[in-house]
Amino acid sequence: RLFEVHVSAFSLDGFRAAVIEFRDLTEARRVERMRVDFIANASHELRTPLASLLGFIETLQGPAKNDAAAREQFLGIMRDQARRMARLVDDLLSLSRIEQNEHVRPQTPVDLVQIVRHVADTLDPVARENGVDLTISTPKEAVVAGDRDELIRVAENLVENAIKYGAGGTSPHRVSVEVKQNAREMTLAVSDNGPGIAPEHLPRLTERFYRVDAPTSRAKGGTGLGLAIVKHIVVRHRGRLTIESALGAGTKFQVTLPKA
Ligand code: ADP
Repeated sequence: RLFEVHVSAFSLDGFRAAVIEFRDLTEARRVERMRVDFIANASHELRTPLASLLGFIETLQGPAKNDAAAREQFLGIMRDQARRMARLVDDLLSLSRIEQNEHVRPQTPVDLVQIVRHVADTLDPVARENGVDLTISTPKEAVVAGDRDELIRVAENLVENAIKYGAGGTSPHRVSVEVKQNAREMTLAVSDNGPGIAPEHLPRLTERFYRVDAPTSRAKGGTGLGLAIVKHIVVRHRGRLTIESALGAGTKFQVTLPKA
């Protein structure tokens, strides 16, 4: 560990005294390292699609200038890359906005049941496309104090991940979304019967840009920021996020929030 030591000497009632202060710098260093890593990762993630865009622009201005078929194909790829950059910038902005407001707890009454229904409706086409059987199970109502848009974001990210990464496990693919409550808390649980996540990845899953399999995540349109955003929203709501997973069996994400 690394300590910073401050020594201050003074006189008190004719006695000479000294105060020695130790400040643990290990944590400060860790935070600084995370900040530097974050900037490096974000730059790298933006640079990759940008390099590809520039490459295609040069090809379109040069060798493929008069090739209509190539132009069509390249423009399609360029649009996808530009969309990926836009998604990344949106996620970075969301993350920084949520972090800036982390000390203020959102207080609007929000019904988790309505949120789950809304998200299930939005993602139903994606579930169908991926051959996933999406089911929801909720009480009549489950009101928490929160921010509606942020809680939609949480549910959307978890359900979308379960659909995206759930494939490849035991068939048929099932994703279930459940809202439960007890006297003090509400829980939103999203489970899939996908391939699961190896235990060594679980503690790092909510870090920015941490992915179990980066090429798969990118191919599925992921930015690597989804779970970091989820975690910060949950912290802001004074809740907790738990992840249980078993290889070959599936994954369950649970968000528990204090009752309104
Ligand atoms: P991404 O944009 O890559 O989806 P996330 O932060 O949402 O980023 O998720 C981080 C990583 O966690 C994903 O890349 C994936 O490897 C893993 N992951 C998330 N949800 C699941 C799940 N339900 N099953 C298996 N792996 C998952």
